[in-house]
Amino acid sequence: MMRHNEDAAPPDVSCPFCGSSRVVKDSDFGPEISKSQYYCQDCESPFERIKWGESRRPDTRR
Ligand SMILES: [Zn+2]
Repeated sequence: MMRHNEDAAPPDVSCPFCGSSRVVKDSDFGPEISKSQYYCQDCESPFERIKWGESRRPDTRR
């Protein structure tokens, strides 16, 4: 298991599956700029966190 302290997520981010705060930021760029990719070290599940409030946008219509 690799650990990168420099990639530590902010303390307000917790895993939506197990509620653990041991999550690391996986990527800053994804399908949408307003989302960040995180990875939980406890249940080993990747998840996205939408950065509400930073770049708030209405529903994306397609
Ligand atoms: Zn988890």
